[in-house]
Amino acid sequence: MTIPASLNGFYASPVSVNTETKWIIAVVGRDILLADGSRMAKNPLIDSDATDSLGFFCQRKITLGQWLSRDCEVWDLMPEVTATEGFSLVGLRDLLTVAGEEIFSLACRAVQLLDWQDKHRFCGSCGEPNQATAKEHAMTCHKCNINNYPRISPCVIVLVTRGDHCLLARNASWPTNRFGALAGYLEAGESAEQALHREVFEEVGVEIDNIRYVGSQSWPYPGQLMLGFIANAVTDEIKVDGIEIAEANWFRYDQLPGNTAPPGIMAGRLIQYYVEQATLACR
Ligand SMILES: [Zn+2]
Repeated sequence: MTIPASLNGFYASPVSVNTETKWIIAVVGRDILLADGSRMAKNPLIDSDATDSLGFFCQRKITLGQWLSRDCEVWDLMPEVTATEGFSLVGLRDLLTVAGEEIFSLACRAVQLLDWQDKHRFCGSCGEPNQATAKEHAMTCHKCNINNYPRISPCVIVLVTRGDHCLLARNASWPTNRFGALAGYLEAGESAEQALHREVFEEVGVEIDNIRYVGSQSWPYPGQLMLGFIANAVTDEIKVDGIEIAEANWFRYDQLPGNTAPPGIMAGRLIQYYVEQATLACR
């Protein structure tokens, strides 16, 4: 099978192509098991030549697709595996720093599919057990003839800008020096643009226009698709809601707070994009 180069090496097909060796994403709970030592620096995924010591602990396998032309599987491992030498656990968010964006995306898909199977073991209509389907990622009730696919929940994230300043906010649950862009889920029946207007107004009391799409990112907490935007502020007075947002301010593009999101996640990508544009414009 030839994988389009535009897909950056990963092809999200649930059907195995039976390559001789495979990539394994080993998951314990919701953490990722990585091989220790120098191998990890080159490639944090575990290849199937090195999985002898892990097979005993594997309680479930799902084919994620193909990465670099080899099958890629997630293995759901029993917690006892952490006593095995030569491996260590890392949280999903920390994996982004350790392994980069592409591996992070694969691991997000792995964790998301495990979580989805766990939560769809029974039919929501008749209560009978669902069966995993071999040729697609679906949990099927044969009595009702219903397929349940992985649920993706779209949400919007926006960096609101006003010339050489952008609006960054601190979520009420974050430490005092951490700031990011504004985000929220789409309500049923809402467009992404309507959700952006509503979320920004609810959270900081600012009205926006000139909304531009920047990009999207899968975010497995548990099944979000983050749609990233930049928008212009029409009003500039900030009134935080005091519930979700504890603090928000306008920051000049070259005087941003030290603890903002890294570029590997959508909030960081929006900030990086804006800073590059503002730097060019202010030259
Ligand atoms: Zn049913």
